[in-house]
Amino acid sequence: MGRRKKIVQECEKLMDKPEQIRNIAIAAHVDHGKTTLTDNLLAGAGMIADEGEATRLMMDTEEDEQERGITIDAANVSMTHEHEETNHLINLIDTPGHVDFGGDVTRAMRAVDGALVVVDAVEGAMPQTETVVRQSLREGVKPALFINKVDRLISELQEGPQEMQERLQKVIADVNDLIRGMTEDMDVDWTVSVEDGTVAFGSALYKWGVSAPSMVETGIGFPEIIEMERNDQRLELHQQTPLSDVVLDMVAEHFPNPVEAQPRRIPAVWRGDPDSDLALQMRDVDDDGEVVFMVTDISMDPHAGEIATGRLFSGTIKKGQELYVSGTAGKNRVQSVGIFMGGEREELDRGVPAGNIAAVTGLRDAIAGSTVSSVEMTPFESIEHISEPVITKS
Ligand code: GDP
Repeated sequence: MGRRKKIVQECEKLMDKPEQIRNIAIAAHVDHGKTTLTDNLLAGAGMIADEGEATRLMMDTEEDEQERGITIDAANVSMTHEHEETNHLINLIDTPGHVDFGGDVTRAMRAVDGALVVVDAVEGAMPQTETVVRQSLREGVKPALFINKVDRLISELQEGPQEMQERLQKVIADVNDLIRGMTEDMDVDWTVSVEDGTVAFGSALYKWGVSAPSMVETGIGFPEIIEMERNDQRLELHQQTPLSDVVLDMVAEHFPNPVEAQPRRIPAVWRGDPDSDLALQMRDVDDDGEVVFMVTDISMDPHAGEIATGRLFSGTIKKGQELYVSGTAGKNRVQSVGIFMGGEREELDRGVPAGNIAAVTGLRDAIAGSTVSSVEMTPFESIEHISEPVITKS
């Protein structure tokens, strides 16, 4: 069996186990390292070649797959990761890095349950960090922190352990101030801490990372890192404490799965009747319930046409279903459903159940933000559809 087929099978198995799914976003100020980190995670999960960029996918040699052509949609990537002998399906949704696209950031956040906040160790928390953290918390999305570019503190700024510690602690304190301010009236403590394992440090460029649990496991802590960075032993650092493992372990361990997240999130993000059957089905991640699919992104595939990607909160989405699209009259027929593997879309013969990120074709009236459902319902957001201008001859 080809490597690709094996991954597809593994993803299909995990799709039916919502407890093993993590839907996440990376929230960062521009240039703090979101793209470099994403490449690391995909490479670490075996989805792309180790030294590659996200555009250089590890391709199977099977002929039909080469002929079919591979499309990479950097807006949505999925990977599997084993943590404590349990495999996980990790779906990563891209968030626009610029403040101007605030609306889009919120929409992406609505589709996920965890946000990995990336902060450049040199620059610290910046205005856009604040914006994205606020947006994620407002959507009921749990944060964890990755402090990136720690190599620069050592090699460029020549900081010693004391200075480094003070600087990193300041970043954590700043992020926690933000979190505390936004979660005052929530009954959860979502502040991050090194001891809890909700903070990781590292270098996305040189692909090494550490967290409190990783230090216990590998024996590599800050003294070793400083010494190895100074001695230019970055490759050894990467091999001994790879960033992707540290971050993906943190994701699997600390971010809620859909079954934990949806009961809390649905009342926060959906304004429909909280006592309705539909609300109950969404809270329960009920794969036998009505289909409720929130579209976060529309992309073009040269072969398949428009692809609507989004979060399935309830029901099972299948080929041939006739679904309502919020804000439009009539229904659209689902032509195909699929999931992501790495950055590629994989069409499936079977349906995709609640809790997953699905890629759907045939929803010709859907736009980013649409609510697509098997019954008419209150949409997640109200969207104004701009109609084609009517040209009248005089
Ligand atoms: P994004 O805008 O958040 O996606 O940031 P990128 O991933 O594109 O990174 C911005 C710049 O920072 C690029 O030039 C990267 O090579 C560099 N960079 C990213 N991570 C690190 C790191 O850990 N250390 C150093 N020294 N540079 C990094």
